[in-house]
Amino acid sequence: DHTRRKSSIFPLTDGGDDPRRSGEGDASREDISVGVEGLIGNTPLIKLRSLSDATGCEIFAKAEFLNGAGNSPKDRVALSMITHAEEDGILQPDRGDTIYEGTVGSTGISLASVARARGYKAHICMPSDVSIEKSDLLLKLGATVERVLPASIVDQNQFVNTARRRAQEHTADPNTPGRGFFADQFENTANYLAHQETTGPEIYAQTGGKLDAFVAGAGTGGTLSGVALALKPLLPELRVVLADPQGSGLFNKIKYGVMFSPTEAEGTRRRHQVDSIVEGIGINRLTANMSAGLHLVDDAVKVTDEQAMKMARWLVEKEGLFVGASSAVNCVAAARVARELGKGKRVVTILCDSGTRHLSKFWKQAGDIGGEGEEFGLEEILMSTEE
Ligand code: PMP
Repeated sequence: DHTRRKSSIFPLTDGGDDPRRSGEGDASREDISVGVEGLIGNTPLIKLRSLSDATGCEIFAKAEFLNGAGNSPKDRVALSMITHAEEDGILQPDRGDTIYEGTVGSTGISLASVARARGYKAHICMPSDVSIEKSDLLLKLGATVERVLPASIVDQNQFVNTARRRAQEHTADPNTPGRGFFADQFENTANYLAHQETTGPEIYAQTGGKLDAFVAGAGTGGTLSGVALALKPLLPELRVVLADPQGSGLFNKIKYGVMFSPTEAEGTRRRHQVDSIVEGIGINRLTANMSAGLHLVDDAVKVTDEQAMKMARWLVEKEGLFVGASSAVNCVAAARVARELGKGKRVVTILCDSGTRHLSKFWKQAGDIGGEGEEFGLEEILMSTEE
């Protein structure tokens, strides 16, 4: 019975004397997930050996792509937003209720999955320039997808505004069953609460409370705020650092207290869009979820698309990890923070999603830079990070 064999190859899955892991027992086993919701949270922390060796620090990454509904940290958020809405009586299963959301993908995918599991429909609005594989996946998950032209938040046809309007139209229409629920990941504080209640405490437990910095990008800000709110009271010395892609205004907000210089601020509506191939992080406005933890963010690192692409290649070549764009941005910033802190420190970051979500856009370019098999040194990747 190979499941009982003491394995040195799979040390993490070998249960040893733990009966729950030995292949014995029955359906009362505590490690059986009840539905897809049970596959959300409790993700492993990976030590990134190559980045640890190159910096002399321990660099740990929370493998959020292993959340088992929509395969990103947004599973936690989707479950939290739906559960809160059910508790408030806004959502009711099997009444024909539909969840509406504006998303660049991950949140929509998580909502579509958890919605199905709970008896709801999902309608997802996303900008038309988002990687096509995300909308394909949404359709396969049974969601309806509306791709709208990329636009600034002040435009009523922008993806978030479209989703809000569709939910209102649904509720107002007497011929449509059920109600429309606008999940509103940017302003709905059930988002950061999910990270404050689960992601943060998990990181604390997995590190035994020994960590010197937490580094993450912000799309809605839910991850950064929630984890900071969980960890800072326990670890007042912890450095919380934003990893920001090029073109995002949050970097300036954290470094200088203003998102835009006066000339930029009076400029065009276009300033509300972030000019980067990195999807999911970077934003030019302050959301409720970012505001909740903004006072706890100590510093910011700006990461260019080129640096993110090189780091993505590094993670494949040295770690065998195929991750998406925001994960790569996080790792560039984590390495930069490790360098600043000095040897022997511990830095924790997030691996948000798989590279398979980014094949047609980020990885199409990242696969080409430098040609086949070219290695990038960490110095070269970090050289032009702005801080
Ligand atoms: N990475 C990806 C791929 C995402 O889609 C998002 C969320 N939009 C994030 C990171 C950022 O997470 P948060 O919204 O919690 O700031």
